[in-house]
Amino acid sequence: MDNQTKKVLILGGGIAGLTAAWELSRQNISVELVEKSCFLGGHAIGFTCKATDKCQQCGACSVEDMLKNVVNEPLINVHLRTEIKELKKAAQFNIMLTQSDIELPDSQIKNLSSGKAAKGFSKYNNPLYVTDSDKDNMGSSCQITADAVIVATGYSPFDPNRKSTYGYGNWKNVITGLDLENIIRENGSLVRPSDGQKPQKVAFIQCVGSRDERLGNLWCSEVCCPYAMRMAGTVKHDNPNAEITMFYIDIQNSGKEFPVFYEKIKQNIRFVRTIPVDVYPLENDGLELRHMAEEEGSPSSEPFDLVVLSVGIMPGKDTVKLSEVTGIPVNEDGFLDNAISCCSFSSSAKSTQASQPSTSAASIAGLFVAGTAKGPASIAASMADAGKTAFEAMKYLGVMK
Ligand code: SF4
Ligand code: SF4
Repeated sequence: MDNQTKKVLILGGGIAGLTAAWELSRQNISVELVEKSCFLGGHAIGFTCKATDKCQQCGACSVEDMLKNVVNEPLINVHLRTEIKELKKAAQFNIMLTQSDIELPDSQIKNLSSGKAAKGFSKYNNPLYVTDSDKDNMGSSCQITADAVIVATGYSPFDPNRKSTYGYGNWKNVITGLDLENIIRENGSLVRPSDGQKPQKVAFIQCVGSRDERLGNLWCSEVCCPYAMRMAGTVKHDNPNAEITMFYIDIQNSGKEFPVFYEKIKQNIRFVRTIPVDVYPLENDGLELRHMAEEEGSPSSEPFDLVVLSVGIMPGKDTVKLSEVTGIPVNEDGFLDNAISCCSFSSSAKSTQASQPSTSAASIAGLFVAGTAKGPASIAASMADAGKTAFEAMKYLGVMK
C-alpha cells in the first residue's frame, strides 16, 4: 500500500505535534493536525531568542523552523480552533472533531493582515499560521478516519495566582517567565512593566508551583532551572550592571553541557538557596522579598526592582477530558500516561510509572502520546520524543520495521 493512503491524526499543534507531523509527512504519510487554539506553535512559539555573544541552545528558533516546514507541506492538513469530541476504534480510528469557541488573543490579531486565516513566515517569533475567531462555524462538527492517532496536547503553565503571597496580578513588577519572554520580544530588552525602565536588581524565584507539597505538585518541572539561567544570562548581557539573584531549592542538571554552563553563569548571577515566602510592595513600584536564607539561618528581606516567577509545567487543562475521550489513563501527577514512552520523562518522585516504556497503556493499538502531554520536557526533548513517537506510529502502520 502506498504510504500516502495512510493517515495519522495528531492532536496538538505545539512543538511535539509539529515535529511528529513533519516526520510522518517525510515518509509520505498524510497528517490531519488538530489544534484547539487559533495558531500553531504552542507556548514555545512565543519564546524569544536568548543568544548573548553566542547561541544559548534554548531551542526557540527550532519551533519556528518546524512551523515553516509544516505550513508548506501539502500532506499536512491543519485544523485550527478545533477539538476532539469523540474517538472510536474499529478497523480504523473514527474521530469526531468540533470547532472550539476559543478567541484569538489581541497579541495575535495584530499579526493578521486580512483579518482572516493567515499563513506565512514570521519574524521575531510572531505566531504564524493563525486564523481569526470566525464565529460562523462555532460548534460545527466533522468526522475523520485515521490509521493512527498521536496525542501531543502539551502542558499548561502553573497559574501564579495560586501562590498569592507573591502578589502576581497585584504588583506590576512581579512577572512570570512567560511574561518576561513577551516583554523582551516586544521591547528588545527587559523593562519593568510599571515604568518601562530597565531594572537594576532582578530576582528569579524558582520552583513556583512545582515541588510544592502544599499544592500536591511533587514533580520537578525540569526545564525552569536552565530556562531561568539562560534568561538571566540574556538580561545580564543586555544590561551588564544588573544584579541578578536566583532563589532556588536545587538546581536541576539537564544535559551534558549543563555543568559548564552553570559554572559560567555563577560568575555573573548570585544564587541563594531558599525560596522566598512573601513579596511586599515598596515605594516606586519596588518589591521586598522575605526569605530564610540557609546560610543566614534567620529571616531576612531584600529589595528588588523586578521579580520573575519561574512557574512550573502542569498537566494540560483538558487532560481529564482528553483521557475520557481517548481512554488514555492519567498518571498520579495528572499527566497522560505513556502509550509509547521514548524519552526519559521522570516527571515525579512518586510517579515512576511514566518513565517506563510500555506498548499501549491505553490498551488501544495505534494510539500514542508525545511531548509534554505526558510530563515536563524541554523543547529539544519534546522534539526528540515526538520524532520517536512518529517512528513508533510508522512501525505500527507497517511503514517502518
Ligand atoms: S533562539 Fe535559542 S537556539 Fe536559537 S539562536 Fe537564539 S539562543 Fe540559539
Ligand atoms: S527545574 Fe525543577 S528544581 Fe529547577 S525550578 Fe524547575 S521545578 Fe524547581
